[in-house]
Amino acid sequence: TDIIEIKEAWKTYKMGAEEINALQGVNFKLEEKSFLAVMGPSGSGKSTLLHMAGILDLPTRGEVVLQGKNVKELSGKEQAKLRRTKIGFVFQRFNLLSQLTAEENVMLPMIKPDKEKARKILDRVGLEGKYDRLPTQLSGGEEQRVAIARALANDPLLILADEPTGELDTANSRMIMDLLTNLNQDGMSIIIVTHDPMAAEYAHKTVEMRDGNIYG
Ligand code: ADP
Ligand code: ADP
Repeated sequence: TDIIEIKEAWKTYKMGAEEINALQGVNFKLEEKSFLAVMGPSGSGKSTLLHMAGILDLPTRGEVVLQGKNVKELSGKEQAKLRRTKIGFVFQRFNLLSQLTAEENVMLPMIKPDKEKARKILDRVGLEGKYDRLPTQLSGGEEQRVAIARALANDPLLILADEPTGELDTANSRMIMDLLTNLNQDGMSIIIVTHDPMAAEYAHKTVEMRDGNIYG
């Protein structure tokens, strides 16, 4: 079965009189338990695709179907619930709240804040005992692990990661990709957008975006 299907998706951004077609009729399916890397030049539409897959935004034309549900037929509230409970987001710049501890950052997206659960998730990403650290008291690799822990807060089916190793050295990049591999083995589907060939090697499949379309 497919976790997500994107059909004939176009995304047009209007900037004054100018229009940019960031997606140009993209067709894309992701089976359960897949691990996909999306590569391609800057401006080719990778982040836009990830935003559609994560219901952060809707396509101008075309369909996004998540677990059999056509997203545009859902209310805004239903879309938000789906986004929050089925999808975990990881970004290049970690995006942790700097005044909150590791466990507080992980509890943030929880529907019902659960400290014990936050600690278990932090254990799972290798941060046992670092629950009370602030982001400034963690290394870059550790910060990204907190960000992954936060993405796991509501037991998502799908992890979307935009350049998850973009700010990390090789050793930390490998640690993050090993962690994503473990999550995939536990049954989560993963899409990473990356420029890093080493990171892409961990995926089961790599596709390339060019000018708003997917190849490969
Ligand atoms: P990539 O992730 O491959 O770098 P993006 O999806 O970010 O590509 O961008 C695709 C195209 O859409 C680019 O031309 C970019 O400038 C444009 N674009 C992306 N987001 C916006 C936006 N919010 N407003 C206007 N144009 C945008
Ligand atoms: P950059 O590519 O500059 O490192 P990020 O990867 O942090 O940027 O973010 C990529 C996109 O995701 C941005 O367009 C941003 O608006 C969006 N974004 C970042 N953080 C969040 C978040 N916590 N929730 C929803 N959208 C986010």
